[in-house]
Amino acid sequence: MKLTTDRIKKLATASGFDLCGVTSVEIIPEARRHFYDWLEQNYHGQMAWLERHSERRADPSLLLDNARSVIMLGLNYYRPDTENPSTDGKIFGRVSRYARGKDYHKLIRRLTEELIYRIKKELGPTASDEFKWWVDYGPFLERAYAEKAGLGYIGKNSMLINRQFGSWIFLAEIVTTLALEPDDPKAVNHGRCASCRLCVDACPTGAILPDRTIDSRRCISYLTIERPTEIPDEFARKMGDLIFGCDICQEVCPHNGRAVVTSQKEFGPKYGVGEFLDTEQVIGMANRDEFLKLTAGTPLTRPQPEGLKRNARIVIENFNSNPRRE
Ligand code: SF4
Repeated sequence: MKLTTDRIKKLATASGFDLCGVTSVEIIPEARRHFYDWLEQNYHGQMAWLERHSERRADPSLLLDNARSVIMLGLNYYRPDTENPSTDGKIFGRVSRYARGKDYHKLIRRLTEELIYRIKKELGPTASDEFKWWVDYGPFLERAYAEKAGLGYIGKNSMLINRQFGSWIFLAEIVTTLALEPDDPKAVNHGRCASCRLCVDACPTGAILPDRTIDSRRCISYLTIERPTEIPDEFARKMGDLIFGCDICQEVCPHNGRAVVTSQKEFGPKYGVGEFLDTEQVIGMANRDEFLKLTAGTPLTRPQPEGLKRNARIVIENFNSNPRRE
């Protein structure tokens, strides 16, 4: 049986995804150039793993023999913020929205495998088409391919912005030998950034550069999650209550004004650490078991106990020097 792009989208919705678009495996020259320039400028900081397989990252046809199409998938994770409850006696650090519930990789893996199962079932037992998939850690310029597949456009803050969900979306991708009709990226043009620069001005560490470029070495998400060593004082003082990740450039974006709360209960606080971490509890973790008791099954394992404790110490210092967060 031959599957159409429309049918693939219906199967993606039935599998639990909020967004689905299709594009070809062809190289996107502008994205490729942008990626290599970014690496050359060392904007990736200490994320040396981004240098590995850089050619495959920029050319999905190298990821699977006879690859023809890329199916781009999106899942809304938005949940609203509440006020930080810190007092003089108890200081809390804020966790980025994407990390408050269960590790999204696990949920998206389940949904993607479900989608591939449904596609294969419709293709029938004699079909020999192949599928390989990734969720954000794979060698893939996923935002560029999501834009080309019509899921949204890449804003000045480098996030993919969708008309319906704003930028609060996780992305996943399936590279396949199926020859599918590509979507038209122009169909989702919804105004782009135009003269807006709210995110550029709001970023406390000046990490957003021209041409949709992020200098990770200044980005609070990178500093609190990926950087293994001490955070330079000039950036630490700008972190405020952020103990893991940062949503500032997304919070100020007008396209996020229409964000809708995710329907995925596993992104809720019951399945992870929630919106705030008690800094005293983090600093008091005596060993790795205690660290895993707090973070296992969530994205917060990434910075290791030392990184999370370092962040907690900064949040305490920031609170004590500016308790009203002015
Ligand atoms: S805040 Fe403004 S400039 Fe930044 S991504 Fe959103 S629309 Fe674009």
